[in-house]
Amino acid sequence: MSSEKILKISVCLFILGFFCISASFAQQRWDWHISGGTIVDGTGKAAYRADILVRDDSIGYIGNVNADTIQSEHFVDATDKVVSPGFIDSHAHGVPLETPQFQNFLGMGVTSIVLGQDGSSPAVGELSSWFEEVEAVNPAVNIALLSGHGSIRSKVDIGKQKPTNKELQKMQKLLRSDLNAGAFGMSTGLEYVPGMYADEEELELLAEVVGNENGLIMSHMRSEDNSEIETSLDELAMQGEYTAVHASHLKVVYGKGIVRAEEILDYIEYFRSQGIHITADIYPYSASYTGIGIVFPDWAKTKAEWQNALEERPEVLRQFLKNKVAQRNGADAILFGSGEFSGLTLQEAAEQENQSAIDLLMKMGPQAASAAHFVMDQQLQDRLMLGEKIMVSSDGSPTMRHPRGYGSFAKMVRYYVNEKELLSLEEAIYKMSGLPAKTIGLEDRGLVQEGMKADLLIFEPTEIQDRATFEHPHKLAEGFDWIMINGTVVRKEGVFSEKRTGRVLLNGSNQ
Ligand SMILES: [Zn+2]
Repeated sequence: MSSEKILKISVCLFILGFFCISASFAQQRWDWHISGGTIVDGTGKAAYRADILVRDDSIGYIGNVNADTIQSEHFVDATDKVVSPGFIDSHAHGVPLETPQFQNFLGMGVTSIVLGQDGSSPAVGELSSWFEEVEAVNPAVNIALLSGHGSIRSKVDIGKQKPTNKELQKMQKLLRSDLNAGAFGMSTGLEYVPGMYADEEELELLAEVVGNENGLIMSHMRSEDNSEIETSLDELAMQGEYTAVHASHLKVVYGKGIVRAEEILDYIEYFRSQGIHITADIYPYSASYTGIGIVFPDWAKTKAEWQNALEERPEVLRQFLKNKVAQRNGADAILFGSGEFSGLTLQEAAEQENQSAIDLLMKMGPQAASAAHFVMDQQLQDRLMLGEKIMVSSDGSPTMRHPRGYGSFAKMVRYYVNEKELLSLEEAIYKMSGLPAKTIGLEDRGLVQEGMKADLLIFEPTEIQDRATFEHPHKLAEGFDWIMINGTVVRKEGVFSEKRTGRVLLNGSNQ
């Protein structure tokens, strides 16, 4: 056959193909036609222009289509705007049965959250019924869950002891039951009671169970202090022999500078070179938020231990607190977010009470309040954020008095992309959608691709602003004015719909 003939046949086939596609489109009915947007698809690849057709809860087609030949129920013009996947918050807090609206998350473009963090999860061993209850309240965002190691440990009622073989088997059984019910893995909170009592053997036996179900271990590691971060990563990587592991809210408390950040990233990279699947998330703020117990010694973390310490060795406790508070940037660097001094720094509260900051802490005890702790170095954290397989999380909730619960994902765009230009929009969105989806195992979310669930945002990147501050932590972010979850638009021109279309996401099933 002559090359001319081949060309002619090819052209004919091409035209025929085009008409076939057109004909099939004309016959098909679609729910949404999103027209002319710039698609940032969540893979990190360069943005491109295309139309998106949505039917039911899924993305049915991506390409260029002629609006006149399309039968769609709804049309939205996305010209000059970005269309991206809804964001996935890999480390979130909140109680769906109490605050199913979750506007804090929606406001910053988050359409799926992962709960059950830091070793603490609801309804251990009875997850299926918890999932049903959550479905029944119609959460506004999709909800995935981890089984909490600390909650499992409490349920078996081990206390501080090393578990017996029988107790270990009970823990494994509870964990397996949660994983079979749809949990995506296990979380640990090794800096907290009771997770801190777990030893290597216990953690590895549980990691094996998680590995058998293709789950993930997300860990609030044993220590985030500058001097102990490598040891903590070693412990996590040990469990990585059995299954994928993930460091939650990676930070280096009172570490400083870009070089230190690069050391940590290299350290993580080394584990990867050894075949360990290790990832991490970061919230984009330099203050952490946790109970003031974090500044108390291991032997005075519970109420009983603290009272005992006050009686038996008050001076040792006083000295410990003094050193710890100084190491963590002093009494001005602790801003209470709950309890009677909410809104004041430890220094301000101490002045108000006419006593020293340390005396006040001694009197309050480890369980009295939570606080923002200004213990991180911006340069160090910024460099960490750019690292490979490092994603964004909020570690926030609707009620927590820290701006991260309302601002994190918007701040990624405003600060890292628009202002500092440290990340391209494509990279930032990858860290907020495609990467967390892959890490957690949400197989049909996190990307704008045909067949994926239609969790979508339309926005103008330069209009994105995080508004929450430490003084006003509950201000919604701005700019994510059009949000679709599971094919239904739940926010239009900035107005939230009454409809809440989030679902419970279960491990091992696409839905
Ligand atoms: Zn945590």
